[in-house]
Amino acid sequence: MQLLASYLSGSWSAGSGSKATLLNPSTEAALAEVHTGGHDFAAAFAHARGAGGTELGQLTFAQRGALLASLAKAIHGAREELLALAIANGGNTRGDAKFDIDGGALTLSYYAELGARLGNTHVIGDGEPIQVGRTARMGGQHMWSRRRGVAVHINAFNFPGWGLCEKLAATLLAGMPVIAKPATATALVTHRMVELFAPLLPAGALQLLVGPAGALLDHLGPGDVVAFTGGSATARTLRTHPAIVAHAVRLNIEADSLNAAILGPDVELSSEVGGLFLADVVRDMTQKTGQKCTAIRRVLVPGDRMADVADALRERLARIHVGDPSQDGVTMGPLATAQQRDDVRAGIARLAEATEAIHGGTGEVDQARGFFVGPVVRATASPMTCAPLNEHEIFGPVTTLGAYPGDAAFAAAFVARGEGCLVSSAYSDDRDWVGTFVAGAAPWAGRLYLGSSKMAAQSPGPGTALPSLLHGGPGRAGGGEELGGARGLQLYMQRTALEGDASVLKSLLGE
Ligand code: NAP
Repeated sequence: MQLLASYLSGSWSAGSGSKATLLNPSTEAALAEVHTGGHDFAAAFAHARGAGGTELGQLTFAQRGALLASLAKAIHGAREELLALAIANGGNTRGDAKFDIDGGALTLSYYAELGARLGNTHVIGDGEPIQVGRTARMGGQHMWSRRRGVAVHINAFNFPGWGLCEKLAATLLAGMPVIAKPATATALVTHRMVELFAPLLPAGALQLLVGPAGALLDHLGPGDVVAFTGGSATARTLRTHPAIVAHAVRLNIEADSLNAAILGPDVELSSEVGGLFLADVVRDMTQKTGQKCTAIRRVLVPGDRMADVADALRERLARIHVGDPSQDGVTMGPLATAQQRDDVRAGIARLAEATEAIHGGTGEVDQARGFFVGPVVRATASPMTCAPLNEHEIFGPVTTLGAYPGDAAFAAAFVARGEGCLVSSAYSDDRDWVGTFVAGAAPWAGRLYLGSSKMAAQSPGPGTALPSLLHGGPGRAGGGEELGGARGLQLYMQRTALEGDASVLKSLLGE
């Protein structure tokens, strides 16, 4: 069986000690093993701070962008192999696997182009020059420059390809070296990507730890950054980690999210916007078996339309074929791990105590092996007071319909009831309704997706995080921000206010 190695301090090393086994979640067959310890993290941090930081720092944005373009090209060259790994180790359908792998390449390409646009410079001006003295000679200017630390990336199990690439793209472009740590259970895709990427990058720019984090974070110091995606319980331990607290290490958290979708009162289900709404709900329930941080968990429907929406979802979900995604005709795979399956089953049971069944029962699937849960829809007449719906994220193919009177203020308050989300969506062609909704919901969401007849034909759906738009959300979602074009670089750069001779400031920014 393959023994996965970590890439630390410039070489591949398997580590030592006890082992964890990576499985195929459809068959429960063992795919690979990884040692759970035995790495010299002090040396890895020194390698990043020394070789990695120095070499990246000498490159301009345009040169770093060219590196990112070469990484995207490497993914394209090994695409079939990476898709096969995602299907085997992640339980992905081919479509799910493309979403992860192609999404990673697309994000790298986007940041490669941004690098080319930023050009042959090392710093980025922030805003216009400001007159701070009595005359225009005494000026002020804000500027972003590369942080002189190490970026540690800790990723969740659900996007081993895209998760690596979206964090890596912004970090390398900003000029910081990276130590990447994927979730152990689905690390095969990340591991292969780093095998492809490492020879294309300067020494120390990218290191990989497979297996548990162990004492990795104990080595953090001033100027370092931790970008974490995962569960809120782990996030809580990171927020109080002694090294993060002691050195004021920047910590970005992408955690749980109770994303909502709201059907506006003006939308007929048979219309293009109604079709978009139904397609988005079904896609988010079934794509990646609902294991998307951006997936729709809560659906608000005008009370008089509940039965129609329930019927339409039943009809569409009846066509979903759950099984081993390596087999023809399967449209939804298993959950990624036995733990995820058990957590999702527990979540459905909790939800069942406060809601009524619409589709899928408890998610039981007739499969002898594998971590399968079928699509489940529940409903409630009291969505605002339904605690299991608004307080627990079920990370699987489960959604709940809630009846509402149709007013936009209620819809916005329902988004807020999730206490902070990555994304929520509203479907309406009524601009006044949309305006009221956005004003009330925006403070509780990192992104708002506004479905309407003008954009329906070209919509990627709310579940797709785009490199040009922010990914992250307040409150329960962790309070973090990633991507968003050039905004994504800011986590890895320091903003400094310069004040002095206006002409000197101008020359420092290369103008
Ligand atoms: P997790 O258990 O929090 O693990 C996430 C990552 O953190 C993994 O790489 C994990 O490594 C690592 N980790 C665990 N304990 C750590 C520690 N003490 N120090 C440093 N790293 C540590 O989350 P998960 O199992 O991957 O996903 C569970 C939940 O995350 C989901 O149910 C969902 O709620 C949430 N999630 C959110 C997003 C988002 O973007 N907002 C995306 C995906 C998932 P090991 O695998 O080696 O334990």
